[in-house]
Amino acid sequence: MLTAIGSCRHLWNEALAQRKERWQKGRKSTSYNHQQWMLTQERRANSELAALHSQVAQDVLRRLDKAFQRFFKHQAGHPRFKRFTTSGSLTYPQCYNGSVRPDVLRGRLYLSKIGNVKVVFHRMLPKEALLKTCTVIREPCGEWYASLVYEDIMPLQNVIARHITSPLGVDLGLKSLIVTSDGVEVPHPRFLRKAEKRLKHLQKTLSRKKKDSKNRVKARRRVASCHAKVARQRADLNHKLSANLVKEHDLIGFEALQIKNMVKSHNLSKSIHDAAWGQLVRFTEYKAALKGTRLVKVDGSYSTQECFHCGTLNRINLGERDFVCSGCGRILNRDLNASRIVLKRAIAKVGQGMPELKPAETWPLLVWTTRRASEVKDAGTIGAQKALEVRGNKPTEGCHVENARGDPDR
Ligand SMILES: [Zn+2]
Repeated sequence: MLTAIGSCRHLWNEALAQRKERWQKGRKSTSYNHQQWMLTQERRANSELAALHSQVAQDVLRRLDKAFQRFFKHQAGHPRFKRFTTSGSLTYPQCYNGSVRPDVLRGRLYLSKIGNVKVVFHRMLPKEALLKTCTVIREPCGEWYASLVYEDIMPLQNVIARHITSPLGVDLGLKSLIVTSDGVEVPHPRFLRKAEKRLKHLQKTLSRKKKDSKNRVKARRRVASCHAKVARQRADLNHKLSANLVKEHDLIGFEALQIKNMVKSHNLSKSIHDAAWGQLVRFTEYKAALKGTRLVKVDGSYSTQECFHCGTLNRINLGERDFVCSGCGRILNRDLNASRIVLKRAIAKVGQGMPELKPAETWPLLVWTTRRASEVKDAGTIGAQKALEVRGNKPTEGCHVENARGDPDR
């Protein structure tokens, strides 16, 4: 299998070199189809290529073509040559034709042109679904994985316009990883920071090893193992968090983050990468789609400054965790307030009988997030019921206006 991965890398480099050469010599562009045709010719003469499953080789060229398309659209840099490593991957794009056959009973996976490989299945395979692609990956730490993609595992739940009963706003942060609008805080686990000491030690040992020695390979693998562990810890936490979010709520609001831009600030970039917000949102997204939960990404601008109760924009310094609203005088927790603003905007976005809220005309939420928090009915604030009367509406079915029960949060 390692030779197959090596052949794929070789093919990538050869194909890339061919494209470069054709362009430099004759200003000719090379199409995917042209290279595909070349591949067929090459396979007759080259035993290394012939040993590779035809579709696996085609997939390499397809990926190279995609890389060039992205380069032409200025979405990515110029495709680069792959240097020799012991890690890599190969993809069977159409497994349903029999090129890949998983055998759960015998604990093995048949890969065409490679043979039967011993595997450990870590979950049940879907029965009535089409096996589409299989990617065999060798991680830098030396572990092998096969990822099988099935089509139509479960028909996606139709997200019909139901009345939302338990919406939730989520604020992503660095102090706490997430703060939800019902007051749950999950601290930032800082997996990378915690592993840093060991990583530093391992890096140092690696740098002392002689070049091209076996001990250097071993040391490099140890560093990779440490990184792989951090990645697993992160993914594990994010899977658990996203599962919980989707289980208990039927509308989840996230801030649409521009993580790429945020990472540019260097002193925070490591912590931002370590937080893996993008992964959490991605996991929640697919789990929500399976369950029929709505996930809304809202504009996050001014979410920390805007008061959730009165809509006043406050000036807050970065370090401040709590602040006093200049409009209504309430003491607000920065993250909790932000998550409620996200919630408010998410509800406005799905249009549950509420117009898009602007800071100036914000009034208390018609739908409450939890049983714990209740509607705000303080002096100077228009209550939800009253707000509707003022506007000449009756509360619609979708708007659950709960009675004030006293608010333990404040
Ligand atoms: Zn206020």
